[in-house]
Amino acid sequence: MTAPTWTVHVDSGLCMGSGICAGAKPGVFRLDGPAAEAAVDQLAPDEAVLDVADMCPAGAITVHDAEGTEIGPRP
Ligand code: SF4
Repeated sequence: MTAPTWTVHVDSGLCMGSGICAGAKPGVFRLDGPAAEAAVDQLAPDEAVLDVADMCPAGAITVHDAEGTEIGPRP
């Protein structure tokens, strides 16, 4: 059995380039140019990544679990 993995996605059309995500989780997000992007394809479940998705002022970050269910940002 493989370890559960999450995926993160940044919508570059929504991102305002604030850099909050890259500052909070530099291993997961990077800001290169006007918009951030995911720095990894998959990651181990990490509550802090959900926190970052919640904090994004543009609502540009989505997090999906191993089943493909959107789990972040949280309502
Ligand atoms: S926190 Fe949101 S708006 Fe700011 S750089 Fe990251 S994805 Fe873009």
